[in-house]
Amino acid sequence: MKITVIGSGYVGLVTGTCLAEYGNDVVCLDVDANKIRILQEGGVPIFEPGLEEMIKRNVSAGRLRFTTDIKESVEHGTIQFIAVGTPPDEDGSADLKYVVAAARSIGRYMHGYKVIVDKSTVPVGTGDKVRAAISDELAQRGEQTSFAIVSNPEFLKEGAAIEDFMRPDRIVIGTDDDTAKDLMNSLYAPFVRNHDRILFMDVRSAEMTKYAANAMLATRISFMNELANLSEVMGADIELVRKGIGSDPRIGYHFLYPGVGYGGSCFPKDVQALQRTANEHGISLKVLDAVEKANQAQKSVLVDKIVKRFGNDLKGKHFALWGLAFKPNTDDMRDAPSRVIIEYLLSHGATVAAHDPVAIHEAQRVMPDWQGLSYADSPMAVLPDADALVIVTEWKAFRSPDFADVKTQLKNPLIFDGRNLYDPKKMEIAGFEYYPIGRQQVT
Ligand code: NAD
Repeated sequence: MKITVIGSGYVGLVTGTCLAEYGNDVVCLDVDANKIRILQEGGVPIFEPGLEEMIKRNVSAGRLRFTTDIKESVEHGTIQFIAVGTPPDEDGSADLKYVVAAARSIGRYMHGYKVIVDKSTVPVGTGDKVRAAISDELAQRGEQTSFAIVSNPEFLKEGAAIEDFMRPDRIVIGTDDDTAKDLMNSLYAPFVRNHDRILFMDVRSAEMTKYAANAMLATRISFMNELANLSEVMGADIELVRKGIGSDPRIGYHFLYPGVGYGGSCFPKDVQALQRTANEHGISLKVLDAVEKANQAQKSVLVDKIVKRFGNDLKGKHFALWGLAFKPNTDDMRDAPSRVIIEYLLSHGATVAAHDPVAIHEAQRVMPDWQGLSYADSPMAVLPDADALVIVTEWKAFRSPDFADVKTQLKNPLIFDGRNLYDPKKMEIAGFEYYPIGRQQVT
């Protein structure tokens, strides 16, 4: 099938590439000329495991190409995916200007029947706005062409995006158009050969499903973070509690890890957008209000421990920091807890040497010229002269370091672990002072 993907970020690139992998003829469009230049020259502007090889394979097979030419890309696809950003507006609601701009581009250049598929995360009712924007452009040209609106929210996880897209748990398709339904069913059939995992519904329910999923996951995280803080005070170990409740199939193990609060490009903005939508309709989502409040508080849990240990004046103190990205296997720094922690340490007089396996270039972009912040290419290289090691992201490479070496390199054998990577008993034996989340600290 001929497919156009508008927006070549994390979601758009993965969508376009995975669809090309199954033989579709895909054009990926972006307004960011630099991004498209990198892609046309064989590079990949983001880090996502497996993506680079898959792009190369499909580009050389002639099934995948990249352009900034809106007219050409709109003319190409019978199915037009919109995968542009929906960042939070000043009031927390989803800013739809990129979605509407994409819809207008389609309306401006389309001829003949098209299926417009919204993959961006958008509030309930956006399908109607997309339809209105396209109809308006068509009317201005005096063009009479029919089109269908589909909501197809994306559930991929950064860091495992290819795997998630190629082997989805479910594919949600919201539409009331039978032709569109058939086309979407054929498009996704190769991805769900073993199980029928396509859920058809109306557009509004599909739009709501995406927010409901992210809000539920964010709720689990905040719930566990609050229980972790309580466990710590009560002398319980949240890691044992986690296993104790996760083993109940009604609860399950996923998303029960306590830490330094959720971040990234989705949970914070989607929780806020859902709250905002509810407020606009006179409804207050009390559970989600608490989820967000708990998350804000959790971002300072690690610095609270640092301040308790060193005092509020951190002048002259130097910290090694492992992990910048908001989670492992991505270079995404949007709303990353590391930013809050680094900002606090620097603004209280400390210096920070940070390492992340892939996010250093992104960190340099979002924290340009931050005085007192330096980077190193390996975890061990940031340790010398540090008063403590602060662990923020649970990269696999941080799980089993040579503790004897870590101890020798650090000025003090002191670790603040925001991801509970190590066993406190082993840390005690290894001679570390160790501050995890929701477990007994070793002092
Ligand atoms: P992103 O910022 O990485 O990419 C968006 C791209 O769209 C950018 O490259 C931007 O230049 C481009 N763009 C903006 N306006 C355009 C236009 N009019 N025409 C062409 N290109 C345009 O964003 P993302 O992380 O890929 O997210 C996209 C959407 O998918 C958001 O709504 C997000 O909430 C949702 N989503 C993201 C994830 C994730 O893990 N990143 C997962 C599921 C859903």
